[in-house]
Amino acid sequence: MNLEDITTVKSILSQPQKIVIIPHKNPDGDAIGSCLALQAYLDSQGHIANVIAPNDFPKFLKWMPGCASILNFERENSQSKKLLEEASLIFTLDFNDLSRTGQLESHLEASNADFIMIDHHQQPSDYARVTYSDVSMSSTCEMVYNFIEYLDGLNAITAEIATNIYTGIMTDTGSFKYRSTSSRTHRVVADLIDKGAKNMEIHQNVFDTNSPSRLHLLGVALSNMVILPELCTAFITLSQAELDKHGFKKGDTEGFVNYGLTLEGIKFAVIFIENKEEGIIKISFRSIGEFSVNQFARTHFNGGGHDNAAGGRSELSMEDTLKKFNDVLESYKTQLNS
Ligand code: 5GP
Ligand code: MN
Repeated sequence: MNLEDITTVKSILSQPQKIVIIPHKNPDGDAIGSCLALQAYLDSQGHIANVIAPNDFPKFLKWMPGCASILNFERENSQSKKLLEEASLIFTLDFNDLSRTGQLESHLEASNADFIMIDHHQQPSDYARVTYSDVSMSSTCEMVYNFIEYLDGLNAITAEIATNIYTGIMTDTGSFKYRSTSSRTHRVVADLIDKGAKNMEIHQNVFDTNSPSRLHLLGVALSNMVILPELCTAFITLSQAELDKHGFKKGDTEGFVNYGLTLEGIKFAVIFIENKEEGIIKISFRSIGEFSVNQFARTHFNGGGHDNAAGGRSELSMEDTLKKFNDVLESYKTQLNS
């Protein structure tokens, strides 16, 4: 954040504010962690902050400190609308465009509150009074740590805040291994441990609470994997019937897409997940190296994200989606082999 923005934020926060904090739809560890950390920090500074998520979040995050207070816009609709109407300040975290909030979008557009965006996705939209956007950042959680530092608030970071920030950095960096993990990221994480984040417990809470049905679903995903060595690509499909058979719950498929990249020579991994209720195929894209899945998702599948991790959707059937994917993939053959 530049000095002017820091001054603006300090001046806004010099008076008690009614604040709403919004993560993107289908919030992940970074979205939930950054919202909860910011909420706890702002509450400690004399504001009244509430987190409203567009929809539910996965069970493997439901131990995070303070997460029981998150309002689900689909479930707690009238309470959420009231808080939005009363809000003097709205933070939007871990997304770059209001369309990423689903049903919340129109309510956010109608609001007269000041907006502050904190986000690390590419091409941020211009809707906020203060836009703290940095695509080089590992995570929005690391940015929330910086944000608190800009406000001279590091001493207010409790063990609970530290735990939430640690969780989001950990999940968004693939446990500190992606390219965006900097020496600064590690310094921040070290400070969070000093402030009370219990790193071993956090890893266990997120990664070691599988249900047997989730592991069986992973088995199905891996046996469905199609490997295209000449295109350095591997993709997985999961149909609604396969999800139903294994008692699919939100979050169960998290991380499945990454298995493709563990194959030697594979640079592009994709998972197609059927969602009959929404009438779409939800797609996740991952890459290693220069191939920009953000561009690929934006150009062909109505999505976006980061260079090496992006998402999108298709309204075609699974069969037609795969046909389209295979067709467009051919034109990237040279790029993928470079
Ligand atoms: P995931 O594949 O884990 O759902 O998402 C990977 C990254 O892409 C995340 O940073 C996420 O915010 C972003 N992303 C996922 N789906 C979409 C989408 O439909 N549109 C856009 N713009 N970004 C997405
Ligand atoms: Mn993120």
